[in-house]
Amino acid sequence: MQAAIPEDERGRLATLRSFHILDTMPEQSFDDVTLLASQICGTPISAISLVDEQRQWFKSIVGLDVRETHRDAAFCSHAILEPGHVLVVPDATKDARFADNVLVVGDPKIRFYAGTPLVTFAGDALGSLCVIDRTPRELHAGQLEALRVLGRQVVYQLELRRAFEELRHTVGALRQAETDLRSEQRNQLELRDQLVSHVSHELRSPLTVIYQYVSILLDGLAGSISGQQREFLDIALKNALQLQRMIGDLIDSTRAGTGKLALDRCRIGLGHIATEVTASLAMVASAKRIRLHADVAEALPEAVGDPGRLRQVIVNLVENAIKFTPEGGTVTVRARVDAGDPAAVRLSVEDTGCGIAPTEQERIFDRLYQVNDCSNRSRKGLGLGLYICRELVLRQGGRLWVEGGPGEGSRFHFTVPVFDLATLLAPVLSGKNLERGTLAVVRVHVSPQADQEITQTGASPVGAAWQTVKACTNPSMDVVLPRLGEDDRSETIVVVAIADEAGAGILASRIKEQLTATEEIGRNGYVWEVTTTLLSLPHGRGNYRNAEVAQTVAGMIDPHLENTSWKRAA
Ligand code: ADP
Repeated sequence: MQAAIPEDERGRLATLRSFHILDTMPEQSFDDVTLLASQICGTPISAISLVDEQRQWFKSIVGLDVRETHRDAAFCSHAILEPGHVLVVPDATKDARFADNVLVVGDPKIRFYAGTPLVTFAGDALGSLCVIDRTPRELHAGQLEALRVLGRQVVYQLELRRAFEELRHTVGALRQAETDLRSEQRNQLELRDQLVSHVSHELRSPLTVIYQYVSILLDGLAGSISGQQREFLDIALKNALQLQRMIGDLIDSTRAGTGKLALDRCRIGLGHIATEVTASLAMVASAKRIRLHADVAEALPEAVGDPGRLRQVIVNLVENAIKFTPEGGTVTVRARVDAGDPAAVRLSVEDTGCGIAPTEQERIFDRLYQVNDCSNRSRKGLGLGLYICRELVLRQGGRLWVEGGPGEGSRFHFTVPVFDLATLLAPVLSGKNLERGTLAVVRVHVSPQADQEITQTGASPVGAAWQTVKACTNPSMDVVLPRLGEDDRSETIVVVAIADEAGAGILASRIKEQLTATEEIGRNGYVWEVTTTLLSLPHGRGNYRNAEVAQTVAGMIDPHLENTSWKRAA
């Protein structure tokens, strides 16, 4: 006799599907239960049967080699009709519901059946855990109880499995959402940066025009002006200048964000730049009755960095110091060899101002961050200054940080690497390169033609020559030394190459060829000269050899270097 269909069969089937268990591979945890059930009940057959629309499918079965049977023949279809009871059939041949069942009449010739329904937490009977025998029999109370307990264990496992799958699904969806969000944020940031960069560039030109015309009026080139007109024009000029700096900050900050801050590495005197900046801001400081002075250590070693960009960093730090220091205070610009790292020069800007709370000391370097509660509220920046400064310093191989709490004043410090030939040459003075035994020093001197009046158009000829020489070299074999001077009029560009005579000749010819083709040089009346010197690599080891090479190269490019930096490396 066919079993009736449960009342809410559609809902029951939907629940069964939600477990995603049908037609899955066997699992040890379910197989353990059927094995235990058949052993406890002493039956040759046990199964976890799930009643699907047209079939019963066995998640686990012992004693029979089938995965499913038709639903019409399933004893379990009867078991699920009464979810609260264990269906026990002592002798199927004597039970009207099963006497003509194909599984009773034919193989496996079922006589005894006991099945406990598998009822989910929500009350749906999915199938049963059953034990089967080929001879009629009974179960004692303990066995029946054990069967119920094992049935509940099957349900726990099913529920756990479903919860775990749902969790995994949720985690996957969350991860995907996070990835999408990140990429969306990245896109928006990129768009914002593009917009800011575009708008800033577009604002620059009209602003320059305003600045120029106001200057013309102030200079009296368009007729004489009254005292009040001068006062108003001065205010306009000051604001135009401030706007110009803000636009510059915006452009720099978007460049920093996209890694496009251009740097021109030179051999520099950081102390000299510090003194220069201090002098240029003396008026601003004295207008606020602030004592501003530079304290540069004697015989400060030269450093490597972009002089324009480092000037920008120092100006920013000193202007901030003046801004946040009350009248009568002091601002000191100090340049020293870094006490913690002798291979770096440290520049410090120290003030007697309001200081910065420890909790703010990292945040002030964030983009657009400004401290709210500092006494000086006449803010005129965008909160980009320190962010740009830190980016600029980091990109030049140094670091920038602040010390001093509220009431102590602030001490901003940054470092830049010392100009040290041994360190600069180290990357090529290693490994297989040394086996070649020789190195070549190629010097390119670029200068204006004698008696030539300079009217430069376009990019600087010295800068263009430097780019050209750089493009002719191979970074794994050659080192182009940082520009040796800040002078934009003439320059000696030095390439130290691991090469023999033939290699040096090839490199020199390539450089000459490319310099001839560099338009900015000839067009501006500049000339160049290339000289090549071949050196034997000294024997000796590691640092000693590098120091010896550095000393020789130093003597060749600039006798002044012989008694400064190279000695530090030795
Ligand atoms: P902005 O470009 O607006 O000047 P900065 O990035 O230069 O912004 O500075 C960020 C914050 O750091 C400012 O809000 C200011 O409060 C704080 N700050 C900078 N320099 C000093 C200083 N010397 N003393 C106290 N606070 C400072």
